[in-house]
Amino acid sequence: MTDRVSGPTEDEWAAAVAAIEAVPAGGRVLLLCHVNPDGDALGSMLGFGLGLCRLGGRQVQAAYPGGQQLPPALHGMPGAHLLVAPHEVWSDPDLVLCFDVASASRLGTLADRMSAPTSIVVDHHASNTRFGGIHLVDPGAAATSVVVQGLLDRLGVPLDVQIAECLYIALVTDTGSFRFEMTTPAVHELAARLLATGVAPAQIARRVFDSRPFGAVRLFGAVLQRSVLEPTAAGGRGLVWTYATLADLETYDQQPYVLEALIDSVRCTVEADVSCVLKQVAEATWAVSMRSKGGVDVSRVAVALGGGGHRLAAGFTGVGAAPDVIQAIRAELD
Ligand code: 5GP
Ligand code: MN
Repeated sequence: MTDRVSGPTEDEWAAAVAAIEAVPAGGRVLLLCHVNPDGDALGSMLGFGLGLCRLGGRQVQAAYPGGQQLPPALHGMPGAHLLVAPHEVWSDPDLVLCFDVASASRLGTLADRMSAPTSIVVDHHASNTRFGGIHLVDPGAAATSVVVQGLLDRLGVPLDVQIAECLYIALVTDTGSFRFEMTTPAVHELAARLLATGVAPAQIARRVFDSRPFGAVRLFGAVLQRSVLEPTAAGGRGLVWTYATLADLETYDQQPYVLEALIDSVRCTVEADVSCVLKQVAEATWAVSMRSKGGVDVSRVAVALGGGGHRLAAGFTGVGAAPDVIQAIRAELD
């Protein structure tokens, strides 16, 4: 693993632009993002896809592994017409770009497409394993969409309201609506360029963050009620955790995506630096989300347990009973 603090070099930018421009007329460009796409993964991929369509001449597909239905928050994003199911993805594209993907495993069954003649990894995870041909990886970028905006600029694609809506959704998702530490003056300048195209921020915020079925509101109540605070964990910085089971989802008749927002209600606990939510995906399998307020590098914990992410937001797949997964986290934190 290579931890780099600086963004792409001029040579890397030039190589990416040349690779995209070299795709012949009618050539196939495949765009991928990580499993269970979030706003940054999907927004970066579709925003770039629309930009590529504006340049014209190439065929464009966009896909993510698994192919599950997207959460309603991400329905109807501009560029969604480019999406195809995993089984429809070309087996022999001319060029592949992947977005917000820190390691090939996050591409699931589509990881083999990275063996295309040319591949470009567009990302902002410091833990990126550099698994492609050309790498546009900027750990200093608040979202992958920041890197995409840089690439579209270099390709001479002007922003329009549709591209901007995709990139804005990506930016607000990964900055927590401009609250997280990566929210620099440059981020607000990028946001200003996006808003200037006519993007409607209040509408996007309501759709992406502030919409939840009533059953999910009640499910959150039950899951938050069983939260556990361990003030002495994480070397005395404190750990708060909870878990949501498949049975919980059934009781409240909810889909798994509703659980993605749960961590935001847990991480506000002032008595704990580290917060953690276990989301059951199978009998002994949990999608684990971790957050830190700054005292702990949770990506280190996630990487040690087979996952990845950022210093203050990371995750991994936990195997075993919930107490065992928590014990593994506790041990890594101490
Ligand atoms: P979240 O908790 O919102 O699902 O994810 C937070 C961060 O951790 C994201 O940046 C995401 O890329 C990373 N992450 C979450 N789950 C996994 C995982 O299973 N594997 C890896 N490599 N990264 C993950
Ligand atoms: Mn991201």
